[in-house]
Amino acid sequence: MDDLKYQVDLLNAMNRRLMDERKMLQLILDSSSSCYVYVNFKENMVRTLGSWSQYWDFEVKSVSDFEKIFDTVEDDYVMPFRDTVFLEKKGLELSGVQVRKKAGRMWIECEANVIYGRDRKPEEKVIRFRDVTKYNLQNEELTHLVYFDEISGLYNRNYFIRLLGDMIEKADGQGETVSVMFINIDNFRSINDSLGIIAGDEIVQHFGDLLKEFISDNVLVARFSGDIFCVAAYAPSGESSADRIFEGICERIGKPIPISGGQEVLLTVSAGIAEYPEAASSALDLVNCAEIVMFKNRNRGRNSMAYFSQDVLSDFLNNVQMENKLKDAIFSNNFMMYFQPQFRTVDGSLRGAEALIRWKDETGKFISPAEFIPIAEQSGTIVPLGTWIIAESIRNYVGWKDIMKEPIRLSLNISAIQYRQPDFVESLLKIISEYNMNPEELELEITESVLIGDYQEITRKLSLLRGYGIKISLDDFGTGYSSLSYLKNLPIDTLKIDKSFIDTVLTDENTQVIMETLMYMATKLNLETIAEGVETREQFEFMEAIDCTDIQGYYLAKPMPADEFVNVIKAGKSLLLMGDL
Ligand code: C2E
Ligand code: CA
Ligand code: CA
Repeated sequence: MDDLKYQVDLLNAMNRRLMDERKMLQLILDSSSSCYVYVNFKENMVRTLGSWSQYWDFEVKSVSDFEKIFDTVEDDYVMPFRDTVFLEKKGLELSGVQVRKKAGRMWIECEANVIYGRDRKPEEKVIRFRDVTKYNLQNEELTHLVYFDEISGLYNRNYFIRLLGDMIEKADGQGETVSVMFINIDNFRSINDSLGIIAGDEIVQHFGDLLKEFISDNVLVARFSGDIFCVAAYAPSGESSADRIFEGICERIGKPIPISGGQEVLLTVSAGIAEYPEAASSALDLVNCAEIVMFKNRNRGRNSMAYFSQDVLSDFLNNVQMENKLKDAIFSNNFMMYFQPQFRTVDGSLRGAEALIRWKDETGKFISPAEFIPIAEQSGTIVPLGTWIIAESIRNYVGWKDIMKEPIRLSLNISAIQYRQPDFVESLLKIISEYNMNPEELELEITESVLIGDYQEITRKLSLLRGYGIKISLDDFGTGYSSLSYLKNLPIDTLKIDKSFIDTVLTDENTQVIMETLMYMATKLNLETIAEGVETREQFEFMEAIDCTDIQGYYLAKPMPADEFVNVIKAGKSLLLMGDL
């Protein structure tokens, strides 16, 4: 009897435990965001569990009900989904797939698991469905950040280089070529400065959209940074050739781009093209070659494009070498200032001197400033070099003070990059006061390139300098845009007529008319005029006859070292003109 009671108690206890476990299982399933299907093959039984109704809006009562599930997903996923759900047909134990539902574009992860009997026949199967939409979207976003540029939606630099590497590998196998075009929007910085960063972003987006039209199986497009874009074309020919793509870009930017605020911007670009295998064999080198060509080409004018050549590369390498030599030279005292006298036309008296830098490299060879100043400007070395030029010239100038009967003018060439430094005026004034120089004896020669950019800031600085009595001379006048409105609005004292006019003034009637008109205007505006590069007596006489106030050139004197210039000061006049005037 006791035995029976014991057995009943035991059964009850087991039953309770079983019930508890069922409850627990149900609780877990109910609180799970996943849903499950249980299939028992032997009993031909199907049950759904968990959050089934959140995934599917039909019930599964028999195996054939499954067919409905395949209608709910996007077409591309039907086959792999079927393979996973009916994995036992392929004798698999485990299988998984991610599918996308048509409705709501929900991503579902599906995993199926089959248990086989000893006879290898399937006995039971569990299929689990899990919503992975959120996770996938986050992943997509991350992937996008890794591969794409946020503003333009184009590939970013890193990913482009990777894809270009694949392209080159393929081209290598198939004996094909690959063109890489490096593109830069002209004057983007000043667009950004004048219209603001938001407008700048709009322009980048617009330009990116326009480049997207060229994307194809064989054409990749990327934005590298700021205003720099890159295009790669596999087996370029016809529509996908670099020439045609460039033409297409220029056509599309021929129309002004509207930006918010009602303004319109007209863009131009510069491009450099390098081709595999001719220019380089790796993706990175190819892009670098295209970049070098673009930079070299950039100053040639708007919408210009050039192809890579070995000459471009050797020029570039020379420049790099020169840049390094320049940096060393600053430290090793290899620079010297020369001074070229300027004379008054009216009486041949000494007006002043233009300070011109000279560089003797370590082999003792003179390198022309026309060659190294542009490189110093590109690399930024011009800033410390320019400060040295100012200090060294002024040091020489004040050394002559004792022998000067009357003060003369010291003219310094100021590079646009140097002028744009925020502390330019301050640092100049500091040197002037250190050497105790009278600022009224100083003249700064600036070119029109100084005047490009933030016009207000530029003229503010000019007026500030003039407030101290420093004179401003517009160098190479006539070679740039030379808008005459400059002369009316700018605070300047002197026009320095470019040598190219002097070269042709005796032979070309147009030049003569321009010169005569200019001299007339300058007199009216109370500006001094100095002709540079006067090499002959005839040129001198012509300029004198049309009232050019000052003359500089080999005819009267060449640039010379400071100790020789002492003799010019002592004479106080042009020896050549002394007899005449
Ligand atoms: P620039 O400012 O136009 O200087 C005038 C150039 O013409 C100088 O060449 C001068 O030696 C040369 N020259 C003067 N008279 C004659 C002449 O009658 N015939 C000929 N054929 N040439 C004449 P340089 O010294 O070789 O300088 C070339 C350029 O390098 C300068 O052109 C200027 O742009 C730049 N540069 C020279 N020194 C400096 C400097 O100290 N600072 C800066 N920023 N640039 C400088
Ligand atoms: Ca000059
Ligand atoms: Ca000049």
